Amino acid sequence: MSKKVEETVQDDTLKATLGLIKQSVDLLEMSNDVYEHLRVPMRFVEASIPVEMDDGSIKVLTGYRAQHNNVLGPYKGGIRFHPNSTPDEVKALSMWMTLKCALVGTPFGGGKGAVVCDPRNMSIKEIERVSRGYVRAMGTVLGPETDIPAPDVYTNAQVMAWMADEYTTIMREPAFGVVTGKPIAVGGCVGREEATSRGCVYIAREAARTLDIPFKGARVAIQGAGNVGGFAALLLAEEGCKIVGISDSKSGVYDPQGLDAQKVVEHKKKTGSLEGISGPKEITNEELLALDCDILIPAAMENQITGKNAADVKAKIVVEGANGPTTPEGDKILKDNNVLVVPDVMANSGGVTVSYFEWVQNNYGFRWDFATVDKHLQEKMVEAFGNVYGFYCEHCTGSDMRTGAYMYAIKKLAEAMQYRGWLHNGIYA
Ligand code: GLU
Repeated sequence: MSKKVEETVQDDTLKATLGLIKQSVDLLEMSNDVYEHLRVPMRFVEASIPVEMDDGSIKVLTGYRAQHNNVLGPYKGGIRFHPNSTPDEVKALSMWMTLKCALVGTPFGGGKGAVVCDPRNMSIKEIERVSRGYVRAMGTVLGPETDIPAPDVYTNAQVMAWMADEYTTIMREPAFGVVTGKPIAVGGCVGREEATSRGCVYIAREAARTLDIPFKGARVAIQGAGNVGGFAALLLAEEGCKIVGISDSKSGVYDPQGLDAQKVVEHKKKTGSLEGISGPKEITNEELLALDCDILIPAAMENQITGKNAADVKAKIVVEGANGPTTPEGDKILKDNNVLVVPDVMANSGGVTVSYFEWVQNNYGFRWDFATVDKHLQEKMVEAFGNVYGFYCEHCTGSDMRTGAYMYAIKKLAEAMQYRGWLHNGIYA
């Protein structure tokens, strides 16, 4: 894809998000002042990050941090290292974080960051320098009470450890709570790594229950075999679901009888791809989205289910493990075809929920065990799904669950804005 085309797609992501926020504010019959507060990030930082490459040359990379809204608490959201990241993409992602945190009831606002680079072509040492460089460049805009990053696409616990170390060195005080998703050895939380997937599985289970689809034996197709998709496959298999297909950015595998999730994930880990697994049939990403299944989990990148391919989706439920996998045109077709789309801000909120648990533990210097983390995660997910689904059924006839989730979250945000004195003319128009 050419750079130009990619940028157009990304700009559309922001436009679509703003359209949905505006529509939700109007449906709630709220004052346009609420939309004005949510329309732009409260702060957007663009910084250059000089990085020494292993061959001694210097590359000056671009880093972004969007701090969208902090009415509910410190900005919170991941940092991705991706060659196609743009300011608009990061802004849209930060808006989704604001909604996500409001929706699950974590006391955080929304933020998001990116470094425009491709870590797949970089050495570990180079990635470390980028991670530390990001923290140096962003300096004091981050902080455990201000803005708390976490892993996102192509960043992980190790990247978070370097960031925490750099921040702690600059600030001359131990402040590991400045980032979440850290390794356990440096203040991480058990279960954080697979929290997004685990949350996704709990949400999928609730959605299936709502539609009277037996979860045990449900046929699931997963787009993405990385941190979210790979773990989700293993967890769903444990729950007794049948994984009929899984794909990564290059290829995919399919078996209507059910794949051996363990074998597939191990192969991906070992070889870095899904190609060459003996047994299942190879399929393309497009074919994966159209597989005959009960639940489809897009867990890769944005803009995957579009006006062009949404009509081919055969699943009854789409659980958005990724951020922004469905375009507005795709959404419309899925709604017309009676597919229940559990939106990203709900479906992948398990990650930030356990990030919250990690931050709480860092703040009071105590460790939870896995059973405690999982119990709280499960409770939060079931409660959030019930709240959002209930709100959608009651207030959003003729619309979709995404609109219900946006409205539910915006209601909470507007209430906090009102109490904090941000809405001089009141919440309602
Ligand atoms: N990057 C994840 C997300 O998009 C996690 C964010 C966090 O834990 O702060 O939700």
